Amino acid sequence: MKTSIAIYPGSFDPVTNGHLDLIERGEKMFDRLIVAVLQNTDKQPLFSVPERVDMLREVTRIWPAVEVEVFEGLLVDYARRRGAGVILRGIRAVSDYEYELQMALMNRMLEPRLETMFMLPGETYSYLSSKLVREIAQHGGPLNGLVPAAVERKLRAKLSKVKP
Ligand code: ADP
Repeated sequence: MKTSIAIYPGSFDPVTNGHLDLIERGEKMFDRLIVAVLQNTDKQPLFSVPERVDMLREVTRIWPAVEVEVFEGLLVDYARRRGAGVILRGIRAVSDYEYELQMALMNRMLEPRLETMFMLPGETYSYLSSKLVREIAQHGGPLNGLVPAAVERKLRAKLSKVKP
């Protein structure tokens, strides 16, 4: 497995400036960074998977080494298929750590050659999550600085209650 290909998996519902902070850091470290949108049947998403992929492609277009894809099933199987040696994940606060630790160790048990790498976003983004962005948008709050302008437009179009 090559370690120069990394996968950054997540829901990205929608992509935030925190995700982009991580993508920008990751893009510098790997030959190829695959942002993989999880096709998750459990959650009730705000944006469909194709909508999330479109937004991600639009806001990552500036980085030629970044690709956006959809994946289903086990992450380790997907990583094997794509020849990736690294899973990139972000840790914002201690609260992320327990879940991330559990997933990283489980993935290591399933595929010992696959490394999980954690990165810290800039501190401006350490409180930022897609869930909070959705809540702020639903209540018409300001989104500047939290998501790219293209994503803000999509949020406002989806949620008619959002104030300009
Ligand atoms: P989940 O996979 O829990 O649905 P997301 O899709 O939002 O979460 O996030 C995917 C990955 O990006 C996770 O590793 C998450 O910790 C990380 N992440 C999300 N928001 C931020 C942020 N503001 N700063 C750094 N990492 C983040």
